[in-house]
Amino acid sequence: MGDSMNAKELMQTVAEDRDELVGNFCEMLRISAVGPESGGEGETERAKYLTKLVRDLGFKSVEVLESRDPRVPSGKRPNIIIRLRGSSDRNLWVVTHMDTVPVGDLSAWKSPPLEPRVEEGRIFARGSEDNGQALIASLYGLKALVKNGITPECNIGLVFVADEEMGNVHGIDFLLSKGVFRKDDIAVVPDHGEKDGSGIVVVEKGIAWIEVEVVGVQTHASTPEKGVNAFEAAARFMLLALERVRKRFDLCDPLFDPPCSTFAPTRCEANGPNVNTVPGRQRFAFDFRVLPEYGLDDVFSEVRAAANDIEKSTGAKINLKLDQRADAAPRTKSDAEIVRRLSTAIEVVRGVKARPMGIGGGTCAAPFRRLGIQAAVWSTSTQTAHDANENCKVDDVIADAQVYALLFAGDNLDRN
Ligand SMILES: [Zn+2]
Repeated sequence: MGDSMNAKELMQTVAEDRDELVGNFCEMLRISAVGPESGGEGETERAKYLTKLVRDLGFKSVEVLESRDPRVPSGKRPNIIIRLRGSSDRNLWVVTHMDTVPVGDLSAWKSPPLEPRVEEGRIFARGSEDNGQALIASLYGLKALVKNGITPECNIGLVFVADEEMGNVHGIDFLLSKGVFRKDDIAVVPDHGEKDGSGIVVVEKGIAWIEVEVVGVQTHASTPEKGVNAFEAAARFMLLALERVRKRFDLCDPLFDPPCSTFAPTRCEANGPNVNTVPGRQRFAFDFRVLPEYGLDDVFSEVRAAANDIEKSTGAKINLKLDQRADAAPRTKSDAEIVRRLSTAIEVVRGVKARPMGIGGGTCAAPFRRLGIQAAVWSTSTQTAHDANENCKVDDVIADAQVYALLFAGDNLDRN
């Protein structure tokens, strides 16, 4: 077994695969993997390529779980699971996704998005950063162990899922329904990354988008007392609601930037074309990002209470609709096993101090955390996901693969 191997040597094994990795990565990126909602044919062709690749790389346990979806030509949305047995019973998953968003406005790309261009140490292609980089890095990280005959510390499962960009029904949710993951497992979900690879997301804010419709009585602006000004009532309501939620839900957590919950009035719709009419209807929206300590129901009740007060004082009717709601999943503790293991690997490879952090948007770690799995969201990212000229740095892919290799080997690696 690989008892005499140390971290440096294992990292070197990954580095030696650089050209091969880039070649196979580019091959994968040539194969479109867009979901049917966006006019694509799904992940079937890309999955075929990957299944062959992982078998060619020497992995014996490769399973494809297919979710039925009549909207794509193959009728199936494939999910690939690659397993390597470890020296303990613990299961460590790395969950990445095969699908991509569409290429978008072609004229904004400097080169064709499905013809990967390697230039100045970067790979430009749709899906290079989101989520190809993490997928290929996890694969080559694990390959380095196989190549050196190192048994991973935990049972490793690399999961390449379908349907991440459009809701996870045929991907993560499908696998959860099949009982693939267990409560005591640990996971890395590379759904967000900082540019230096130091950030590990352990907690997310809950999200509530609230649609507001204020109904008053329209009238001539020279006789406003004959109507009920929906715009004015909306303005009063907006300020009162914000004042109340900001006061009541005021906890801060330095893991987040910004540290407190955020309550922002956002879209405001036109209420009529002319200046001399008191508007009878005003629509606008709130975007709230709420620390996981607070329930979104309580936040919504506070907003409703403010609406009731304004209805009484103005005579307008205020309709509220919770348009989108994503309750925050339980947090993964900053000193959880997966965070500690990952931090150690990041610090060895990158020479930076890894730091647990929170973000204001949802990640794919949420369903795992709800199941009781400690899940860390980590990658190194150019943060060009969904952009024209999406790209990743080859150095980052290699470094991420090295982090995975060290994470997988764990204590089964000679630390000298
Ligand atoms: Zn994406």
